[in-house]
Amino acid sequence: MDFTNRVAVVTGASRGIGREIAQQLAARGAAVACAAPAVDPADETAALIQAAGGQAKAYLCDVTQTAEVEALFEAVQADLGAPAILVNNAGITRDQLILRMKDDEWDKVLAVNLKGAFLCTRAAARPMMKARYGRIVNIASVVGIAGAAGQANYSASKAGLIGLTKTTAKEFGSRGITCNAVAPGFIETQMTAELPAEFKEHVIKTAPLGRLGQPVDVANAVVFLASDMASYITGQVLTVDGGFIL
Ligand code: NDP
Repeated sequence: MDFTNRVAVVTGASRGIGREIAQQLAARGAAVACAAPAVDPADETAALIQAAGGQAKAYLCDVTQTAEVEALFEAVQADLGAPAILVNNAGITRDQLILRMKDDEWDKVLAVNLKGAFLCTRAAARPMMKARYGRIVNIASVVGIAGAAGQANYSASKAGLIGLTKTTAKEFGSRGITCNAVAPGFIETQMTAELPAEFKEHVIKTAPLGRLGQPVDVANAVVFLASDMASYITGQVLTVDGGFIL
């Protein structure tokens, strides 16, 4: 899995799963655009990659803002070249039971997790179509498949992302562009750090593989789907959860 001469854009690359994906792609030769809404932590990811001998550049981008997304792809094209790989990783949670969920908790999660992926896909598709090559990987979630009490907004956004994945696969397949989703289970990052210890114990006891996931577990699946090894795979959802939702 060699990404030499390939440009990859990773959203939400400032920490957690996004940072690991950026590092793993760069370790295999990709020039990685590390996009995040605050530039300092994205710079840190780019610096880590450069320190390891890889090629990376940090970009400021709130994926909910059309103008920022368009500007991101223009800047990447100018600095690194046409993007061949897009990883829609940016995501947030605002957990609440439906009866207590506020409109803005619903809107914000849908805006980042779903609209953001749509905006980036639309912007990336143009250069990918021109090159007749592209790999788009969307980071969904097992709760987009199974649902989760207290996560109506988040699970709806991730189920929507799976729908977007399948439609992207259908619209762009004839142009050499694949689009797949990775659906992680419980991965140890800042996003899950606040969850109660009992829930973590429940995951460890329930998952056949008997442990929590690490960002690299997700990044490995992304690397595969972004590679030429996955050239006949599109519109699929690859669950990376240690078997938790089986
Ligand atoms: P983190 O909270 O650690 O990181 C989220 C990333 O998204 C950060 O880089 C954050 O940037 C970025 N982000 C937030 N809002 C925006 C925005 N408006 N525009 C651009 N970037 C934004 O989460 P994880 O690493 O855990 O999650 C990464 C992805 O994996 C998400 O899509 C999440 O839903 C998904 N996932 C995670 C699971 C888990 O167990 N951890 C399970 C299933 C799916 P900043 O640092 O500036 O806030």
